[in-house]
Amino acid sequence: MNYNREDGWHDPKIVPYHDISVSPANTTLHYGQAIFEGMKAFRQQDGKIVIFRTLDHLNRLNNSARLLDIPNVDINTVHQGLKKLIEIEKEWVPAKIGQSLYIRPFIFATDPYLGVSVSDTYKLLIILSPVAAYYAHGFAPVKIMVEDHYVRAVPGGLGEAKTPANYAASLHAGLVAHEKGYDQTLWLDGVERKYIEEVGSMNILFKIKGEIVTPSLCGSILGGITRKTVLAVAKEWGIPVSERRITIDEVCEAYKNGELDEVFGSGTAAVISPVGLLSYKGQDMIINEGKIGSFSQKMFDHITGLQSGLIKDTQGFIEG
Ligand code: PMP
Repeated sequence: MNYNREDGWHDPKIVPYHDISVSPANTTLHYGQAIFEGMKAFRQQDGKIVIFRTLDHLNRLNNSARLLDIPNVDINTVHQGLKKLIEIEKEWVPAKIGQSLYIRPFIFATDPYLGVSVSDTYKLLIILSPVAAYYAHGFAPVKIMVEDHYVRAVPGGLGEAKTPANYAASLHAGLVAHEKGYDQTLWLDGVERKYIEEVGSMNILFKIKGEIVTPSLCGSILGGITRKTVLAVAKEWGIPVSERRITIDEVCEAYKNGELDEVFGSGTAAVISPVGLLSYKGQDMIINEGKIGSFSQKMFDHITGLQSGLIKDTQGFIEG
């Protein structure tokens, strides 16, 4: 689908996957005026194909658009187009539990212009790709390094948008963490370097003295759809949840006092990612003896159960 000022969003079409060409002066290549989403379609046990929380993802796409001065899309048009696309490509939706069809909508500026300015023209594309189960070798804990040198996002910046710049800002620190033997980076706030923000491609949650605590959406982290699901399910289960600012010192203190029950990430790719080790300033904290916590396991089973249709969806997460 294309956008220009005269016609708005127009010309939606479904075409086979192919290379596209842009001008070497394309503004996105130089200045990064682009946004994207990542969601999944599942083939449920009865054969029905569903998408997990489509409207939340499309609303978030529009929120990213607002932050990047990209024209909003009509959610209903994109939703209907997406449904049509999935219907045509339905044989690509895997039937095996844990597998899915990944859906990647993205919008980028297309003006061929070397000056720094907001583009007048855009393209919205949606790529589909079947994906294997994230935990091919079984649901397993990860090792996370708290990043106290590099900064990913700052207040008033683009941290809450799903935009390439945020991922570019995290590449080098991710590589350094990998070289040191960690799977992911946990970002701290960009001003005081003490408030916990999020992991490279996941939100972070803690179970402290029985309560699920996660950083509030302060403008510099992505409002994860899985995070929202976890909080809604925990509430349904009667487990206390708290969205608030939390410092790394508070987490270390809870660990020292034996009050840090579990740490886990949440995101579309992994659903739940239990954390077995958290390292801050060279000090390793072994969480729950390095094993998967019971809450993390239960939540993973529940959300994957909703997606596969084994568990009945009572909260409207599953959309046809
Ligand atoms: N934070 C970042 C930076 C991410 O890239 C993702 C993955 N989209 C998340 C959090 C988790 O968001 P969601 O649960 O919507 O996938």
